[in-house]
Amino acid sequence: MVASAYQFLSILINPHQPQIGSYQPNMSNIRVRFAPSPTGALHIGGVRTALYNYLFAKKHGGTFVLRIEDTDQGRYVPGAEEYILEALRWCGIMPSEGQGIGGPHTPYRQSERKVIYMQHALNLVANGTAYYAFDTPEELEAARGAAAAAGNHNFKYDAISRKAMKTSLNLTADEVQRRLDAGEHYVIRLKVPENETVTFTDLIRGEVSFHTSELDDKVLMKSDGMPTYHLANIVDDHLMEITHVIRGEEWLPSTGHHVLLYRAFGWEATKPQFSHLPLILRPDGKGKLSKRDGAKFGMPVFPLSWKADTPEDSFDGFRESGFLPEAVVNFLAFLGWNPGTEQEIFSLDGLCEAFSIEKISKSGARFDFEKAKWYNQQYLHATDDAELARLVRPLAEAKGYQVTNEYLTKVCHLMKGRATFLPDLVEQSSYLFGDVQVFDNENIAKRWKPESRPVFEALADHVKAQSSFEAANLEAAVKEFMAERGLKPGEVMPMLRLSLAGTMQGPGVFEMMELLGNDRTVERLAMAFSHFDAIVK
Ligand code: GLU
Repeated sequence: MVASAYQFLSILINPHQPQIGSYQPNMSNIRVRFAPSPTGALHIGGVRTALYNYLFAKKHGGTFVLRIEDTDQGRYVPGAEEYILEALRWCGIMPSEGQGIGGPHTPYRQSERKVIYMQHALNLVANGTAYYAFDTPEELEAARGAAAAAGNHNFKYDAISRKAMKTSLNLTADEVQRRLDAGEHYVIRLKVPENETVTFTDLIRGEVSFHTSELDDKVLMKSDGMPTYHLANIVDDHLMEITHVIRGEEWLPSTGHHVLLYRAFGWEATKPQFSHLPLILRPDGKGKLSKRDGAKFGMPVFPLSWKADTPEDSFDGFRESGFLPEAVVNFLAFLGWNPGTEQEIFSLDGLCEAFSIEKISKSGARFDFEKAKWYNQQYLHATDDAELARLVRPLAEAKGYQVTNEYLTKVCHLMKGRATFLPDLVEQSSYLFGDVQVFDNENIAKRWKPESRPVFEALADHVKAQSSFEAANLEAAVKEFMAERGLKPGEVMPMLRLSLAGTMQGPGVFEMMELLGNDRTVERLAMAFSHFDAIVK
C-alpha cells in the first residue's frame, strides 16, 4: 500500500525552507508516541524511531507514549507486542505511558478502541467530509476495468471517479438509509476536496505539498467495522494529545491525507508537528535496509532474536549477537542524526541532552555494521569488569566453566581490550578456564628450537621460584633471566604465550600467568614444551 502510494504521489518539496530550525517547542507539554503495528519482530529502523521519540521527549521533559496499532487483524502476529516492549526495555528507552505501562488514555491498543473510531467516522459523514461507499468488490473491479479501457491504468477512487460510484454523495438520503437498514456492506471514505494544494511543514524536510488530484478518497472505516490506519492514527494522536509525530519516511506520502483529516475534524489548531526520519539504507548504500538484508550481509537487523516457524522468518538479534544495549543505542542515534561536533560516544543521558530535530538529516543513513562493531568495542572497554562478568556468566556456565565471580571478573579485565562482542570474552579465552585445547602448530613449528628446551625449563624453574606471582614481578623476573642468558624477548615471549594460550593472540603473558597462578602456569609450561617437541620432531 505504501509502495503504491509512492508511485502516484509526487511530493513537492519547497527548496526554501523558512521554518527549519526556528521551531521552539512548548517545553511543558511535549507528547510524542511510538505507534508500531504488531506484525512481527520490530525492525531496527523501528527501534531508531522509538529512540528519537524517546530522546525528544526526554530532552523537553515531555511524555513518550507507546500505542499498538493493531487494526489490521490479518497481519497481526502473536508475540509481536511483547517483543516490542522487551526490545524497548532492553535498549533502556521505555515509554512513560501507553500499552503495557498505563496512563490517562487507556486503552492504548487500537483494536480495543473500535467504538471511538466509528463515532469519529460518523461525525465526518455528518459534517460532509466523509461518505458511505456501497460499491461491491465486483463494481470496483468493473470501474477499474472501464478506466483501463479508456487508457487510465491508475484508477483511483477520487473526486472525479466517485461521481459514478454508489456513494452517499450520489444516492438519495432514503436510498442510503435503506441500504444501511438492510445491513448492506459499506466502507466510509474521506471526501478529498477537488483541485487544492495541501501543505504542511515537516520539521526535517521543510514545506511539503500535495495536490489533491494525487490523493485518493482513502477508506477510513472498513466493511468489517475496523478503522484503517489513517483514521485510527489521526483520531488517537488527537485524543492522546500528541504534539509531535516523529516517524519513518515511508509515512510521508500519507501525510497529505492526515492533514486533510485534521481539517475534516476541525482539529487544525492542535495538529501535531510532523518529522519524517530518513531511510536506513543497506550497508552498500543500495536501497532501503530490509529484514532479509541481515542474512545477506551477515549482521543482525533486529534488536532481539525472533523465532518463527520457518528459518526464513526467524532473525538474529543484536542482543543475542553479543551487543551491549548502550552501544546499539549510540549507534542507532547516529543513523540519521549527529550532534554537529566530533563527539561520537554518548550515553543515553548525553544523547537526550544533545538531541535536536534540526540536526536530523534528510538523506538516507547507511547501516554500517563495522561502525556498530566499533561502538560495541568502545562500550565493552568502558564497561566495569564486574558488570561484564555478570553479563557473561550465563555464557560461561553454558560452556561448563565453573569459576568464581572474582575469577570471571579478572578474565573479563584481561579480555575486554580485544573483544568485539560479549561472547568473545569467554569464547576466545577457553585456555583461561581449562587446559589449552588448540595450539597454533604452524607458529610453534616455525619458532620452537628443541635444543632450547633446557633453557625454557630453567626459565620455568625461575618462574616457579617467585614468591610474588604478580604480573609486574613476573615480568621483572623473566627480564632478568633473559638478560643473564643473553636471550632476546622475540625468542622467549612468543613461546611463553603459545605455551599458556596456544595462540599468538590473547592478553599479556604476565597477566595470564598471574591469573593462572604458580602451579597452573608451571604445569602448563612443562606440558607445552613436550607438545612443542612432538610438533617439531
Ligand atoms: N502503525 C504505523 C507503523 O507501523 C505507525 C506510523 C506512524 O507513526 O504514524 O509504523
